[in-house]
Amino acid sequence: MSATVTAQIGTTDWHLTGIRTTRAGEICDHCPRTLKNLYDVENRITGQTMTVGRGCCKAVTGWTLAAAEAARILRAAQIAARQAEVWAEFTAAHPAAAQMLEDDIRTWRPAHPGQANIPLHVKNDIARGATPRSWWEGRIREYCRTRCS
Ligand SMILES: [Zn+2]
Repeated sequence: MSATVTAQIGTTDWHLTGIRTTRAGEICDHCPRTLKNLYDVENRITGQTMTVGRGCCKAVTGWTLAAAEAARILRAAQIAARQAEVWAEFTAAHPAAAQMLEDDIRTWRPAHPGQANIPLHVKNDIARGATPRSWWEGRIREYCRTRCS
């Protein structure tokens, strides 16, 4: 996992880049308090980075971020980054199949209202799934069978 995984804080220009705890404590970059629970934030426009407490996170970003929500958005960003990595591996190993799926996702028309985008579902399966190539190939073969029938 790279250290570049970040999660946008609400609709602000600020991104959460890390949540840390420290026994010794660190001084908040916004107020004089010593903190044990630290939120690393970065402004995507100015590039400014700060380590603040959750209260000062609101003061700095203008967004109220509950602790559980902070953990959730950072975890979701890490999962999305991992899935993008797996998809990139798949694309490198099977460029034609990846291109076919991307094209199908774009041109998908549901057969009935509410029908899921099946090629998108297959792409997500691959991105979420195990990386052995035999698994990928099986998933693609299965998709091609239903697609062409
Ligand atoms: Zn503070």
